[in-house]
Amino acid sequence: MWIFKNDFMPGGTLAVPKANEILAPIHREVDRFDLIAATQDWHHAEHGSFASQHPDAQVFDAGELNGLPQIFWPDHCVQ
Ligand SMILES: [Zn+2]
Repeated sequence: MWIFKNDFMPGGTLAVPKANEILAPIHREVDRFDLIAATQDWHHAEHGSFASQHPDAQVFDAGELNGLPQIFWPDHCVQ
């Protein structure tokens, strides 16, 4: 079963340009491979990487989270 995160699709909160264009080729070719690897992005609503959790941060600002460099993202892939 394939589940694509709508937030990374055009119109999503963290859209990747033309991400929708890879869906048909993936579905067409997937049966040719014995091993398929996938990733998952999933956050709780108050995730520290979200700009919305930092009053002074704007989306895509660079900052620091727990002592490490962090880009502050729009809310995305919320559980
Ligand atoms: Zn994420």
